[in-house]
Amino acid sequence: MRPYPFTAVVGMAELRLALVLSAISPAIGGVLVRGEKGTAKSTMVRALAGLLPGVDVVEGCRFSCDPAAPDPACPDGPHAEGAAAHRRPARLVELPVGAAEDRVVGSLDLERALSEGVTDYQPGLLAGAHRGLLYVDEVNLLHDHLVDTLLDAAAMGRVTVEREGVSVSHAARFVLIGTMNPEEGELRPQLLDRFGLTVEVASSRDAAQRVEVVRRRLAYEAAPDDFAEGYADAEAALAADIAAAQRLVPSVTLSDDALLQIAQVCAAFEVDGMRADIVTARTAAAHAAWCGRDTVTTEDIRVAARLALPHRRRRNPFDAPGIDEEQLEQSLRDTEPPEQGPPDGPDDPGDPGDPDDDGPGPGSGGEPEPSDADGQPANGQGGSAGERQVGAGSPYRARLFTVDGTGSGAHGRRSRAVTDSGRTVGVRPAGVRDGGAHLLATVRAAAPHQRSRGRSGPGLVVRPHDVRYAVREGKEGNLVLFCVDASGSMGARSRMREVKSAVLSLLLDAYQRRDKVGLVTFRAMGAEVALPPTVSVDAAASRLEALPTGGRTPLAEGLLRAAEVLRVEALRDPRRRPLLVVVTDGRATSGPDAVARAHAAADLLAGTGVTSVVLDCESGRMRLGLGAELAAHLGGERVALGDVAAETLTREVKRRAA
Ligand SMILES: [Zn+2]
Repeated sequence: MRPYPFTAVVGMAELRLALVLSAISPAIGGVLVRGEKGTAKSTMVRALAGLLPGVDVVEGCRFSCDPAAPDPACPDGPHAEGAAAHRRPARLVELPVGAAEDRVVGSLDLERALSEGVTDYQPGLLAGAHRGLLYVDEVNLLHDHLVDTLLDAAAMGRVTVEREGVSVSHAARFVLIGTMNPEEGELRPQLLDRFGLTVEVASSRDAAQRVEVVRRRLAYEAAPDDFAEGYADAEAALAADIAAAQRLVPSVTLSDDALLQIAQVCAAFEVDGMRADIVTARTAAAHAAWCGRDTVTTEDIRVAARLALPHRRRRNPFDAPGIDEEQLEQSLRDTEPPEQGPPDGPDDPGDPGDPDDDGPGPGSGGEPEPSDADGQPANGQGGSAGERQVGAGSPYRARLFTVDGTGSGAHGRRSRAVTDSGRTVGVRPAGVRDGGAHLLATVRAAAPHQRSRGRSGPGLVVRPHDVRYAVREGKEGNLVLFCVDASGSMGARSRMREVKSAVLSLLLDAYQRRDKVGLVTFRAMGAEVALPPTVSVDAAASRLEALPTGGRTPLAEGLLRAAEVLRVEALRDPRRRPLLVVVTDGRATSGPDAVARAHAAADLLAGTGVTSVVLDCESGRMRLGLGAELAAHLGGERVALGDVAAETLTREVKRRAA
């Protein structure tokens, strides 16, 4: 089945341009595509590989060495001059967010290295992406250690794998393309800076364009090959244009005036470091080549600045995306444009193969902000809490709740876990090969058998089963799932504000501990997942802020919904252990047997082994103690709402000690 053609994607002119420019000049450093789900951003990225010229590779080399300039350190080398070669299509390699490090950088067989002295290295995804495209969907959800690996590779153009003194290295130069939904959390600044260009995409609000999107999608799904065939000429034409521009790029000149103009623009937007200037210059040169010119003009610089600067600007997270057009024009005017007319040319020159060039041009302005930007929580940076309806009070430092036992989840700062870094707490024999080998323990294991193995020389005779691995202990992040009672029984506004403050405090704590968070709420007729598990604490906070309250209390439904969320998430992210925080007064008023059903739901949750905490919201003189009962059914701790603050815990300890 043929993939959806690049040229069949409707609109998204800016993304199209960014991808094309990156393909023309890989030195730009790739593209980060930000936008909500349901836009065709992934479709477009995946279609890009089909437009790239093929690459010549040395026959039999798993590291895609160029026959004209083979990597001298290639693990499959050295390759003789004039070695057999063949041409293959350019590749797009997808790096899954949850990939193990071995799969990304390749794996080194340590047993063979130690016992046979043989370097047995299996290439990973980065080797596969060499001289092609590396695509990371949901790049903002990438594990920290993978981010570091990726940053190293991107900076060096090489991958180096080192295990206990054995080291392998190979070339890995690729165009990095990432897509992300900013609602699910932001990217680390170091990684953000690695991307040459950024583009914001949003679904079109134009009805005719939306109709066309659906029409084409349906046509493609009905007959993919026929559909793709209809675009074959457009695809071939675009591929030819890209190839022509690639050939032209090296001869594009940047005059001193153009360089000065670039410097001026970068200075005006207060970007950090020189990287912005360099990327803007490269992008401008690629754009000139794309337009068939060999000199960079003001228009090229304008286009380049719009793509290269937005993510390098010093800004706070709630600023609108993009850059200020007026400021851009002003900074371009500050220096005389090099040999060119007034800067009022078309926004999007060169857009071959697109039957309907209709997308909003880059920076046409008026883009709506992400939907959550206005629900900004009082998160300690932004002054006082919003008091709309029942807003949260000021958050405070929350006490630490941890998941029982020892996990093996992603790095974080909450619960105890066996990790691949951190303190070495023991050794274990060969088996799961994901930690570093423990050299001393390995030698110790091999030592008693030397005579029986017939050792004669100075070298230790090591067998695979001698190898010992370090067991390291550190901290993991968890999934903190809040199950919040938003019913009328939660009582007065002041009570609800206190509840929201407590949850908000725990959310901020979760952010600092690198947890995922999720929010299930129940009130009136049922329960809903107000926020599926995400790393975006901001999203959780704004959902919480906007939470409507009132009505009956379907506690059982809330707990069952939470159980379902936990079940699904355990499939999606199995190593991340959950912590369930039920915020309730323990009352249940949805039917005659509501309390009994709630306790049955709690028993079911307890049966899954999840660690639970009940934040007991009961107040007043007439207390029923239902929160404690619920906690008993959950097999979890009951904590009074007023005791969430870390200080109260300290006070408690002091009181007991006294
Ligand atoms: Zn090679």
